[in-house]
Amino acid sequence: MNNLYTSNVSIPEFFLWERLDKKRALQYFELELTARCNNNCRHCYINLPEKDIKAIKKELSLEDLKPIIDEAVSLGALWCCITGGEPLLREDFFDIYLYLKRKGLLVSVFTNATLITEEHIRLFRKYPPRDVEVTVYGITEKTYNSVTRGSFDAFMKGLNLLLENDIKIRLKAMAIRSNAEELPMIASFCREKTKDYFRFDPVLHLRYDRNKKRNNEIIAERLTPEEIIKIEKNDAERLNALEKICDKFILPEPIDNNSNYVFLCSAGNISFTLGYDGYFRLCSSLTREDCVYDLNSGNLTDAWNNFVPSIRSIKSESEEFLRKCRICSIFELCRWCPAHADLETGEMDRPVDYFCEVAGKRAEAFRAEQLNEKIVLP
Ligand code: SF4
Ligand code: SF4
Repeated sequence: MNNLYTSNVSIPEFFLWERLDKKRALQYFELELTARCNNNCRHCYINLPEKDIKAIKKELSLEDLKPIIDEAVSLGALWCCITGGEPLLREDFFDIYLYLKRKGLLVSVFTNATLITEEHIRLFRKYPPRDVEVTVYGITEKTYNSVTRGSFDAFMKGLNLLLENDIKIRLKAMAIRSNAEELPMIASFCREKTKDYFRFDPVLHLRYDRNKKRNNEIIAERLTPEEIIKIEKNDAERLNALEKICDKFILPEPIDNNSNYVFLCSAGNISFTLGYDGYFRLCSSLTREDCVYDLNSGNLTDAWNNFVPSIRSIKSESEEFLRKCRICSIFELCRWCPAHADLETGEMDRPVDYFCEVAGKRAEAFRAEQLNEKIVLP
């Protein structure tokens, strides 16, 4: 709605970002309401069973959440992304959602859509979310149920309810072994349903709880670097986006860098994640014990102002890390970060072979010939 006092501006175009550029200031947070899910996806890094009593007991109640949300708003947060597990499993989802909205936050909801009811639609129509982001694991019953071990019918019913009622949705997909053949059809389906937005992610992450059996299942679902490049090259939109990134992000030389900080990303600079159990994390994936802050016994202001800088100031003495990732010329093409390195290797400052291979193949495939010069791969 535009009038004398208000105007519509998309989040990326909001003028404040420029002013905040390179400054540490809280803009948004992820609120992980639960680690439980009614699906059981083969590639999932978080899900616990729907009725897991231990997990239920650890979940923060609305009363626990209120002071943390209040503090986040005082610290400057503008936007909250509700996530899980499956957040709609929470019986108090409605109260939590409304509390966030009443605090003036933009609210996004990440859901698998299988639990969407008319009641959610009424809520979203009356108090619109910024968006509802739904992952499409398959568009046939066979593929969807094979990936999620859940219900395709419930997914389609929920998705159709959202679409028919004009709730702003965004669709995304994971490219995994169990749905790889169907991926082109999944992409067409998603692009047709949400004209402005679709993305897919072919790099699977390991479990936050480091469950070995489940991690092996995730590794078995990973596509080879060659398969990933083939999928990316066959998807015109993705190819175009990657070529643009490659243009900017493949440097002909290693980065000349004397610093040995482990954190090269912006974790904890503009956002944080609140775990379902009350643990503050710099980003959703940074789960190692010595890098999380217990808000059950502390407070968000302390976590944000004191704890985050102490973690971000960690330095590395690993020669391998300093010689490879810290100066890597294709760093921006890689999914390496301290959190994922830790989940993969147990150390925050170690290269990850699989990420390295994918990034190297991307660089070779998308840019090497255009650069017309030899790029220095790690
Ligand atoms: S729907 Fe999402 S949270 Fe649930 S099991 Fe699948 S990937 Fe995990
Ligand atoms: S894992 Fe490999 S490609 Fe990724 S940042 Fe490290 S050296 Fe570069």
